[in-house]
Amino acid sequence: MTTCPHCAWPVRDLPAERHRTSEGVVDYRRCVCGSWIVLVEKTLTAVVAAE
Ligand SMILES: [Zn+2]
Repeated sequence: MTTCPHCAWPVRDLPAERHRTSEGVVDYRRCVCGSWIVLVEKTLTAVVAAE
């Protein structure tokens, strides 16, 4: 299961904002801890920590 690296919240429980790109489906999720989690084709590819 994919979880937030900052707070271990299950990523699947977060509201998703999906965009279809040439790379596949890019999924942005705002975690409860304030981080942005970016998944490409359901694989965690980037996390932007809260300020
Ligand atoms: Zn988090």
